[in-house]
Amino acid sequence: MQAMNARQAAENTPEHFWAKAAEQVDWFKKPNQVLLSNPDGTHQWFADGELNTCYLALDRHVEAGQGDRLALIYDSPVTQSKKTYTYQQLLDEVSHFAGALKRLGVGKGDGVIIYMPMVPEAGIAMLACARLGAVHSVVFGGFAPHELAVRIDDAKPKILLTASCGIEFDRVIEYKPLVDAAIEEAQHQPEKVIVLQRPQANATLNDPMDLDWHEALKGAEPTGCTALQSTDPLYIMYTSGTTGKPKGVLRDNGSHAVALLYALRNVYNMQEGDAWWGISDIGWVVGHSFIIYGPLMGGCTSVFYEGKPVRTPDAGAFWRVIQEYQVKGIFCAPTAFRAIRKEDPEGELFKRYDVSSLKHIFVAGEKLDSPTYHWLHELSQKPVYDHWWQTETGWPVTAPLTGLGETDIRAGSTNRCVPGYNVQVLRPDGTQAEANEMGSIAIKLPLPPGVAQTLWGDHQRYLNAYLGTFPGYYHTGDGGYIDEAGFVYIMGRTDDVINVSGHRLSTGEMEEVVATHPAVAECAVIGVADELKGQLPIGLILLKDGANISHDTLEKELIALVREKIGALACFQRALVVKRLPKTRSGKILRAVLRKIADGQDYAPPSTIDDLSILTEITEQLREAGISETKSE
Ligand code: AMP
Repeated sequence: MQAMNARQAAENTPEHFWAKAAEQVDWFKKPNQVLLSNPDGTHQWFADGELNTCYLALDRHVEAGQGDRLALIYDSPVTQSKKTYTYQQLLDEVSHFAGALKRLGVGKGDGVIIYMPMVPEAGIAMLACARLGAVHSVVFGGFAPHELAVRIDDAKPKILLTASCGIEFDRVIEYKPLVDAAIEEAQHQPEKVIVLQRPQANATLNDPMDLDWHEALKGAEPTGCTALQSTDPLYIMYTSGTTGKPKGVLRDNGSHAVALLYALRNVYNMQEGDAWWGISDIGWVVGHSFIIYGPLMGGCTSVFYEGKPVRTPDAGAFWRVIQEYQVKGIFCAPTAFRAIRKEDPEGELFKRYDVSSLKHIFVAGEKLDSPTYHWLHELSQKPVYDHWWQTETGWPVTAPLTGLGETDIRAGSTNRCVPGYNVQVLRPDGTQAEANEMGSIAIKLPLPPGVAQTLWGDHQRYLNAYLGTFPGYYHTGDGGYIDEAGFVYIMGRTDDVINVSGHRLSTGEMEEVVATHPAVAECAVIGVADELKGQLPIGLILLKDGANISHDTLEKELIALVREKIGALACFQRALVVKRLPKTRSGKILRAVLRKIADGQDYAPPSTIDDLSILTEITEQLREAGISETKSE
């Protein structure tokens, strides 16, 4: 009831609703303007408010006498080490590191790229940037040098922060050579690269650009919080769009703080002092919102885990961490539970631990398949809540409001709208679909606080990509339907974005890489369903006339190329040479049909294609390669 009332209140009187929610924030200057509408359809929340996100995450808890409370628990099975930080200790580390950055000339509005593994220094660096008003951009450590170079050129950072290595299971991956290669490729050059030396690898530092992390800190004075406008940027988070160029999603300070505090308490039901575990990486939006900023702003204890669901050391790792830190709530992508289930289907390892502290499990990032849901729920005996959001929104769009006592679950649904989001299903002509009718999932404007209102350096792309498709709506890129009780069902992307292990990747970007191979005339990269990873990319390749290369060799070279240019996280493992690619008369490759063929789904042969035999030909080739079981309608 309370939850439904909150939804209603946010819809009826959004300004009143969010002004009230904003009272949870300790502003330096309270906002008078709640919501401003811009002529281009975007909005600004709390525009004249002033605050500092790092102050909210650290200082205010210390000032309130909570300095001894645990803020961060670093648990690293890959290095067999653990470390805890109280709020006071974290504040000391962050204010000193901010002092070090300031001494290097970093201030409000300057860019800082953080290319680091899951070490606490990475979180410290994020908060230090927030303290100064510098705009951080964390680049996931799994990205290859080319991807890092693209982000360096877009974000134009003054400083780049890195570590000597990351650790994948038992493999040490040296980061410094990757950073060096990226800087070599990039047009823009950061002034300094600060390197955290880890015991597992020693990075070579080159004069005059490189600086050792501890040297940078030596003698640095702690620095205070810069007062920022609510709409000043906090961070850029790059995410895949439909083209090769990633989108720099820009997050503000004020509305982000209001939204995360609202979500932490009302969606996840996390109160001050509760232990929370966002099982992700700081290289993704979940890591920003629900490892660092959300839980710390909310005074929780946040688990910061450098490990995997399995093999670090085994599939009991999650349950061990929950028991050890008395974790009350977790958030994870379903792929992690699929990996655990594969190795421990009967839950033998689960039984070794006491997870009674855990109240619920939230999953998001990709479709929660029903076998995984049932397995996890039956094993853990905890509510498993599927919920849905995107890098752009920064916090949940649909979710149960467990903090308001809501516990409803409907199979296959990511739950109802969170207050502030008016989600609707639209037909191609923009009219509203009936209940249970499939269509494009869109959010009626204005978007609630927290959601990105622009892309870094490319506002027009924001307008085109999100607001241009359906006037008055934000276009999510997802398809699905809403049932008669308001539960939302997300069926997947309607564009060329795929989801590999919960990571959002652009097939367009992979196509650009594959197309650089000298033997490739044309290609299409599509996502096919995979039991463990959700989706996997496969390349369909047209060879150049006279290309003299065996299909096996070509496949190997393309796999290596994608790995080198994008990174191992793309999981590009198949490339098939085809005789022809199906196209529309205007020359566009029919990717949606190819996806359906590869997934073995029924498809209606499109009227825009001249020669239907191409589809039969491809279906046969995919079947021969063991990729599909397709039939056409
Ligand atoms: P990202 O921006 O990387 O968080 O990816 C966002 C995309 O992941 C969404 O647009 C959806 O396609 C997908 N996604 C996120 N959460 C879910 C979910 N609970 N169920 C199905 N798909 C999801």
